[in-house]
Amino acid sequence: MAYLTLRGINKIYPNGFHAVHDFNLEIEKGEFIVFVGSSGCGKSTTLRMIAGLENISNGEFYINGERANEKGPRERGVAMVFQSYALYPHMTVYDNLAFGLMLQGVDDDVIEKRVYSTAEILGLTDYLERLPRELSGGQRQRVAVGRAIIRKVDIFLMDEPLSNLDAKQRVTMRSEITQIHRETGATTIYVTHDQTEAMTMADRIVVMKDGYVQQVGTPYDLYFNPVNMFVAGFIGEPPMNFIEGQLENGKIRMENNIIDLSEVADRSVLEKYEGSEVAFGFRPEAVRIADKSGDAMSLTGVVELVELLGDNTNVYVDMQGVNCILKVDPHISMETDTEVTFDIPYESIYLFDKQTEKRIKLKEKKD
Ligand code: ADP
Repeated sequence: MAYLTLRGINKIYPNGFHAVHDFNLEIEKGEFIVFVGSSGCGKSTTLRMIAGLENISNGEFYINGERANEKGPRERGVAMVFQSYALYPHMTVYDNLAFGLMLQGVDDDVIEKRVYSTAEILGLTDYLERLPRELSGGQRQRVAVGRAIIRKVDIFLMDEPLSNLDAKQRVTMRSEITQIHRETGATTIYVTHDQTEAMTMADRIVVMKDGYVQQVGTPYDLYFNPVNMFVAGFIGEPPMNFIEGQLENGKIRMENNIIDLSEVADRSVLEKYEGSEVAFGFRPEAVRIADKSGDAMSLTGVVELVELLGDNTNVYVDMQGVNCILKVDPHISMETDTEVTFDIPYESIYLFDKQTEKRIKLKEKKD
């Protein structure tokens, strides 16, 4: 059995709201797992059930092979960092870090050692005598993380710990938390609505929507092999482009473009979906402009808007009422109201069943 096992976990709140449906996951010791999804999809509820702060309505939760449903938060050996980290304002950083251990009756010399080693990991050694109001937002958040890791628990739970920081601090703290995870080796479950945090920090990501797990996988898996339109649209920035239409003779006909899938998909696949509503998908960054290398599908549209971002340019293209975004090299000159032809490499083409929103594999596996 894995280190943490969630089996058929459900949460039904006392008001009858079913917030989490049949959540299944096995987590190995030392893994960094991120729960990601839009606000209200059940991430915090699941985390709080793992922490023991919310009871599990249905299903089983095991820590190290032992059933933990009935265990209280303390018995589970977890430490949690919340979005709103209330430091004690009248206590120094040292005392804020030491306080939990003092309450547990840990010896002073042990406390001192742990405060110094924790401060060292977090780069807070020079700030131990300061009060929280004398720290930056990022430093305060580090103290909050420090209060959790000083307890030397095996399981670390974090609920949107960076959401109160500005964009720059978030980037710094992101890599610091990854570093702390590497140093402590604690199994970590991290909740965020931010797909960039999920992609950069996770060993594995759990994508949730409306209380249901959509997909569990490595960042690479989710980006290149999304199982449905939700995951495909959620991971990646700008999101994947979708062009919807009916499949006729292996083609999707648009006003001024024809998407011919016969070159990229097995005939058996196209026959199966003939006449169905489908969504053709491609990522903004997958397109090539004026580069004819390799097999690709060409589409043409009119440039509506050009956003120069420095490292790339986002080009908004209108294909007679169907809009898409291309993420291209900033050195390529693009002018609004002119026509652009772009190529989508065959290997970057996705297809989805519009009705179920599930991905359609273009090639059937050969045995
Ligand atoms: P997330 O963390 O993904 O933003 P939450 O787990 O906090 O989502 O909430 C999931 C859903 O459960 C939301 O629709 C929320 O309104 C609902 N919810 C959260 N707490 C309660 C509660 N105590 N009683 C009833 N519904 C709740």
